[in-house]
Amino acid sequence: MTKPVLTFHGLALASEDFDPNKPHTYCRICGAIFQHSNIKIRKRWSHGHADRHSEAEHVSLAKSGMWLTPAAQYRLAAYGVIDIVSAVTNEESEAALKEAPKVQE
Ligand SMILES: [Zn+2]
Repeated sequence: MTKPVLTFHGLALASEDFDPNKPHTYCRICGAIFQHSNIKIRKRWSHGHADRHSEAEHVSLAKSGMWLTPAAQYRLAAYGVIDIVSAVTNEESEAALKEAPKVQE
């Protein structure tokens, strides 16, 4: 099975290179994830990435009461980022978590 590869701003971050014990940040709307040891670089990525989403997407997430959208829930589960409350209270989020790719041992 091919492992997912995520590409951000010209940087490639393969899931096999991801270390959940090292600093990282992620998008609560689409589930993009970025890992770097420097907090300024992570913040720059986060702000730059946030601008790629529409105001409507940001408002929709805020109004939903969920930490992660179902799309983000799906993509981030393999990285250990899971929104349990939304998985319990929202059917779409629950389905996204159940269908999410599992972490390979
Ligand atoms: Zn995003």
